[in-house]
Amino acid sequence: MSDFRKLWLLFQLRRNAWRKTEDLLEIQQKKLRAIVKHSYENVEFYHKKFDSLGLKPSDVKTVEDLKKLPITTKQEVRDNYPKGIVARGVNVEKCKEYRTSGSTGMPLSILLDRSAEDYRAALFGRPFFECGLRLRDKMVAISDSRHFPRSKTWYQKIGILKRVHFSASTNVEETLPLIARCEPDAVYAYSSYIRLLAEEAKKQGILEFMPNLFFGTAEIMTKETRNIVKSVFNTEIFDLYGCVETERLAWECTEHVGYHMDIDSTVIEFNKDGEVVAPGESGHIFLTCLYNKAMPLIRYEVGDLGTSTVERCPCGRGLPLMKNIVGRTDDLVVASNGRIIVPANFSNIMRGIPGISQFKVIQEKKNLIIVTLVKDRNFSRLTVQRVIKDVKEVVGHDVTVEPIVVEEIKKDQSGKIRAVVSKIHSS
Ligand SMILES: [Zn+2]
Repeated sequence: MSDFRKLWLLFQLRRNAWRKTEDLLEIQQKKLRAIVKHSYENVEFYHKKFDSLGLKPSDVKTVEDLKKLPITTKQEVRDNYPKGIVARGVNVEKCKEYRTSGSTGMPLSILLDRSAEDYRAALFGRPFFECGLRLRDKMVAISDSRHFPRSKTWYQKIGILKRVHFSASTNVEETLPLIARCEPDAVYAYSSYIRLLAEEAKKQGILEFMPNLFFGTAEIMTKETRNIVKSVFNTEIFDLYGCVETERLAWECTEHVGYHMDIDSTVIEFNKDGEVVAPGESGHIFLTCLYNKAMPLIRYEVGDLGTSTVERCPCGRGLPLMKNIVGRTDDLVVASNGRIIVPANFSNIMRGIPGISQFKVIQEKKNLIIVTLVKDRNFSRLTVQRVIKDVKEVVGHDVTVEPIVVEEIKKDQSGKIRAVVSKIHSS
């Protein structure tokens, strides 16, 4: 039955995408009240939190009211897991456990019961279909092999959306011919992997079996990736934003003017210094998951920064837009004057310096930045001098910038390539 329930939920969610924004906000509010009430009544962690503030669930009726509550940090979720944060009466043995990769040094477990798991699967599926995937299509998914499904997905069991999995840690040179042999209609992968795939396809001349649909995720989508997918495969790439804790959060449609937020399933807040940011500004993203009753997350600080907008999408879908995802807080470098530098700043700098084919910026300490570089044929001593000079320009002249030339920049354990890593941000 579960598979049919997922299909039915997918149908409902796709219908929601086209509802009026006002109606979606009403759906969101109704679900918010229910999850707040449920959390107060059944989850010790939230019960105590409400009580300590003298709040009752009836005090949180709207998204606006959420700001009466403090944020929930990763540390709190970890400290209270499982006893304090899993709802009373939930059979932990029967739940599905998701684990965050812990790239921030703090791996977390998230539990979902059967009904939340069905909802999550449908939510995961919505953007693929909204962007043109058809039920009988075959999708190649390239991801962290530690997260591969142990059994066939519901799609496959009922003969739709065949999925073939590849590990993102594999060498793209060897994987490309295997992918081409699958003749996929769509590829879903980390954005950096799709870029490598496009470059490799061009090199090997394997183009005829490559798909029309590319979905990138888990990393900041760069202009270079969009351009190379366009030039090699003559198609667009769709960027999807989500996290392990709550699944899909926002996604691009064919208009590419922003990301439709899944407000029927999650409340997404953009916050800076305790205030909601103005449209066009970036803020910390707080999430309130509206469908996971087994382990509710209310105002959960996910560790990402995003930009809000009041722009409407010309496609006509009622799911409102966010402008972009700026990065993870652990991808943000802090200049000596305290200014935050987003990863895109470094891409712009490196693009302007001849001789670099790949780079990685690591802020080791407040006053030490290491830049590892892979040379291309225009590399010279000037390249290194320019890196020092141009990076210092943004991070401050009192910061030591140390370029190191390497043969290859390694992927991290999950298979992702993170171009910027800050070791001084710990949240
Ligand atoms: Zn749209």
